[in-house]
Amino acid sequence: MGENKECNSMVDNCEEVPTKEVIEFRPPLYKQRYFFVKNLVQQHKPKKVADLGFGDATLIWMLKYHHCIEHLVGVDTYAGSTSQWEISNLSPSVGDYLVPRDLDLTITLYRGSAVQKDSRLVGFDLMTCIELIEHLDSEDLAKFPEVVFGYYSPRIIIISTPNSEFNPLFPASTFRHLDHKFEWNRMQFQTWASDVANLYNYSVEFTGVGSPPAGAEHVGYCTQIGVFQKNEAKATESCISTPEEHVYETVFTTAYPSLQEKKNLLLVLSAEVLRASNSMRLRFIVDPKKKVNGRLVPEDSCVPRYGLIVTDAQRAQIESSPKPYCVGKKFYVPLERLITFPKVNRLVDSVERLRSLLSEALKLNRDQSALQVDLHDHYSRTMLSY
Ligand code: SAH
Repeated sequence: MGENKECNSMVDNCEEVPTKEVIEFRPPLYKQRYFFVKNLVQQHKPKKVADLGFGDATLIWMLKYHHCIEHLVGVDTYAGSTSQWEISNLSPSVGDYLVPRDLDLTITLYRGSAVQKDSRLVGFDLMTCIELIEHLDSEDLAKFPEVVFGYYSPRIIIISTPNSEFNPLFPASTFRHLDHKFEWNRMQFQTWASDVANLYNYSVEFTGVGSPPAGAEHVGYCTQIGVFQKNEAKATESCISTPEEHVYETVFTTAYPSLQEKKNLLLVLSAEVLRASNSMRLRFIVDPKKKVNGRLVPEDSCVPRYGLIVTDAQRAQIESSPKPYCVGKKFYVPLERLITFPKVNRLVDSVERLRSLLSEALKLNRDQSALQVDLHDHYSRTMLSY
């Protein structure tokens, strides 16, 4: 979305205007705003996040890397085209399929206005309105609190807007963007925000990003930010169900692969289990002290040295678990041993669950207490022949 970056360009890209010194923000101001949101996400771990006025969706893209978020929604009157978003970095990549997330993630972009009510936006944990309100005319600004605070009523709302007290430090003494309907000083923003917070039973704290240069500290941050938190009493009240009302047009939606889906869990678990057992098997084969039939494998050859980072405690746990063994040309790794491997243990929390999943994908021994693999495969035969 050109508009946004244009919007930031005067302050972020330091256009040369001879009359006044250029103010350079490092990192650029728009990034400081996004980092501010990311920090709050890290702190509060919201599951459902909506960005109103998402622009070019950079913030949404940055937020998709937060594993706590399961629903990420953007709303913008502009919103672009479906094909634009399909080929964007909002769609899952090959890497997302190879290493699925622990939890589901859906990203949905809607075309619509932040001052229209759509029931799909009700009950979010966090809503962000980054450089949005100054684009609303007086009529829309008047509707905004009732929709966002009253109807959507998320747990936390972040609103950022230009601080006009900073503007005299810029070369041009106009609004920061042509589409801005107003730019408020700190008193104006804080009065509006406090009134809204009181009316809808939120508390609000003020801060900002983009520190003023030395000597101009009195003007405050370049971007002023209000962080609103819903007071608890209101939270229970708003649990009353909201009638469905779909007003926004969906322009893009995508679901990321996750371990919540059984087929992904099976794939990742099987790969992890095979990696661990393969490592044990190969070391068993090359161990000169081994006897093949039914002999317990020596201690240190059962703990893979490569590809796994294990602490001393984890290693001790692995070593004290039942040992792999060999019968004929088959190599067996007890499930009780496999589950001690941190990467396996992260995926399943009990031997029963491990058994039930592996029995669908891999070969287990008769009493289903151990994974069974061939002692020699093509690779190990080739390796041993050298
Ligand atoms: N939040 C983005 C974009 C800020 S520019 C960022 O920080 O980079 C403001 C954005 O709000 C634009 O993308 C514009 O299309 C959108 N916008 C303007 N009025 C809106 C409204 N009523 N509802 C939703 N989005 C709106």
